Amino acid sequence: MRIGKDLIDAIVAHSRDDLPNECCGLIGGSDGEMKSVHRARNAAATWLRYEVHPTDQLRIMDRIEADGEEMVGIYHSHTKSDAYPSQTDINLAAAWPDPLYLICSLADRDDPVVRAFAIRGGRVEEVDLDVV
Ligand SMILES: [Zn+2]
Repeated sequence: MRIGKDLIDAIVAHSRDDLPNECCGLIGGSDGEMKSVHRARNAAATWLRYEVHPTDQLRIMDRIEADGEEMVGIYHSHTKSDAYPSQTDINLAAAWPDPLYLICSLADRDDPVVRAFAIRGGRVEEVDLDVV
């Protein structure tokens, strides 16, 4: 999956802005490329987990569709742990198996790490990000 460096930077910036809580958002794209990052509120408002605010979700999905893109990814941050899906993340993904899940870890504040995963049927598989 191709993704622009500017989009990675936007996800890292959002992750930092929402500290100490986890942040979350949606990613639009097409033709195997991620093209837009959309911030959503974390309705859970905690550093323990994320919950894409339902109003934001509808608004962003309309916007992505209007732009001729599809919702290809969901991102959130881990403020203290590695960029790897937690059991909570795996459970949450059961309802939404198609998008890729991008996780931005700020465990090392000076060295943010963004990784992508397919989470389907309770299984986690890392997907290479081709940062352009
Ligand atoms: Zn998580």
